[in-house]
Amino acid sequence: MRIGIGYDIHRLVPNRRLVLGGVEIPSELGLLGHSDADALAHAIIDSLFGAAALGDIGRHFPDTDPRYKDADSMVLLKDACSLIKENGYKIINIDTNIIAQTPRLSPHIENIRASLASVMELDISCISVKARTNEGQDSVGEKQSIVAQAVCLLENI
Ligand code: MG
Repeated sequence: MRIGIGYDIHRLVPNRRLVLGGVEIPSELGLLGHSDADALAHAIIDSLFGAAALGDIGRHFPDTDPRYKDADSMVLLKDACSLIKENGYKIINIDTNIIAQTPRLSPHIENIRASLASVMELDISCISVKARTNEGQDSVGEKQSIVAQAVCLLENI
């Protein structure tokens, strides 16, 4: 068994889409980034690479590479899952946190789980997504950013 941890933060700005786990969420503010800025997908990818000691998302999908401009991060997540398999691992489960003061994410959690389960080819019971606010504290609480955290468990196959 191998455990991995991932973290990501993106700035919340006007005139950008808010995409988390491949699900577009209605919001006045969206996440700024080179790709679609899907912080949840990025945190999960980093947890997978971390568990397999394969480096990080920046090594595999550099944000200086024009190929990844406005990239769909779920395509990157699918590629990361393939790489994990090629390296002889099976994904057992993931657990994640999204920390956002706005918008309210609870109505979208089941859609996000289903989206991740589909792309990662896992049963939805193996995907946990939890959302919370930051109680008004720091940049997340002041609606300037959204943070995502992920842990995953891999098994040698
Ligand atoms: Mg990111």
